[in-house]
Amino acid sequence: MSQITLQPSCADDYDPASLLVSEALQRIDAVVTPVTGYEQVPLRSALGRTLAQTITSPINVPAHTNSAMDGYAVRVEDLSGEGVTPLRVIGTALAGGPFQGVVTPGAAVRIMTGAVLPAGADCVVMQEQVGRQEDTVVIGSGHKVGQNIRRAGEDLAKGEVVMSAGHRLLPADLGLLASLGIAEIQVRRRLRVAFFSTGDELRSIGEPLDEGEIYDSNRYTLYGMLTRLGVDLIDMGVVRDRREDLEQAFREAAQHADALITSGGVSVGEADFIKDILKALGEVNFWKIAMKPGRPLAFGRVGKAVFFGLPGNPVSVMVTFYQFVQPALQHMMGQHEEPPLTVKAACAKRLRKRPGRMEFQRGILERQADGSLVVHSTGDQGSGILSAMSRANCFIILPEECGNVEAGALVDVQPFAALL
Ligand code: AMP
Ligand code: MG
Repeated sequence: MSQITLQPSCADDYDPASLLVSEALQRIDAVVTPVTGYEQVPLRSALGRTLAQTITSPINVPAHTNSAMDGYAVRVEDLSGEGVTPLRVIGTALAGGPFQGVVTPGAAVRIMTGAVLPAGADCVVMQEQVGRQEDTVVIGSGHKVGQNIRRAGEDLAKGEVVMSAGHRLLPADLGLLASLGIAEIQVRRRLRVAFFSTGDELRSIGEPLDEGEIYDSNRYTLYGMLTRLGVDLIDMGVVRDRREDLEQAFREAAQHADALITSGGVSVGEADFIKDILKALGEVNFWKIAMKPGRPLAFGRVGKAVFFGLPGNPVSVMVTFYQFVQPALQHMMGQHEEPPLTVKAACAKRLRKRPGRMEFQRGILERQADGSLVVHSTGDQGSGILSAMSRANCFIILPEECGNVEAGALVDVQPFAALL
């Protein structure tokens, strides 16, 4: 009688040959360097680009001491008595239409928000706090020097450093630069990133599907993620799992791109094939990373291009892109950005997890009525389930050593909104 022995189920996912996520990140960061090459661009074209110069303020902002309110510009000294003081209104100061005279003792000037504070005045009293009869205003006590006044240079002083090289330019930055009268700035040149999908089963949208074939979705998620990063794209389409085709594609990318991203063909079964081709074209390491999804990852150089060989599964592509490729490309773009924000949230239900690998589960983060954050799992965590990624709004990041997570426990959550 034959007996079948079952292997005891593996209690953890620990694999001594694996690289930790943090180690892989360090290795990548140690190799990539910012591209050189700069451009002078008009302000609007600078959105999303990397600033390549230090900006110091050429002027004081605001340029003049001005009023923060609609009201009356007065001398606090005149209001020192008890009760109310009548002041004579001697003129009006408008934004863009300054009052040319001086606020003398016993006088007040009607002033609008943004108008230059007239000489002699040291305080603005809100119009709601005064009584007016013809050319007299009646004002109570308790007003202070500097009240409702914006000092010249209080936002930025002339000569002050406003932004440093390496800053990714966002809408507020365009506004700030405009407020300084700066029309053109120096930015780093755009990164050129080539990408293609590998796999004989892949068809491009628009083509009919035969049995066993699937549509290539990775090139679309990559297109989206790369576009948001603000790089120049070189979409090389689908490349068959054939030696000559792959070799040709790698050669072409290496000539034109700063970075090359592929998906598929790096898992154990397939890697040997690609390894062989890449050996001749550059230096590529095939890593097993202690993470889920995204265990296999190839990283190195093909020609002069930095190469990322991502796994084929659609969710793995997105996870490895966000965790490894995006920070590396930002480094190559010369950006000095903080890592994406994470927050703590309570798990709505128990999460299954085996110790050994860092997991990036797909979650839905919500704010409760009491203001606290709760995260729900999207359910099935299969690395091919792109619909879960589409429904999710965050990654639930569970560290290597962590096991099952009980309902109510706090976990680290990385909102997609923080990923660009
Ligand atoms: P691979 O890493 O090449 O073994 O692929 C792993 C899984 O991902 C397989 O089920 C592939 O069919 C699938 N896959 C690979 N590339 C793509 C792609 N570009 N779009 C959608 N699915 C893909
Ligand atoms: Mg494949």
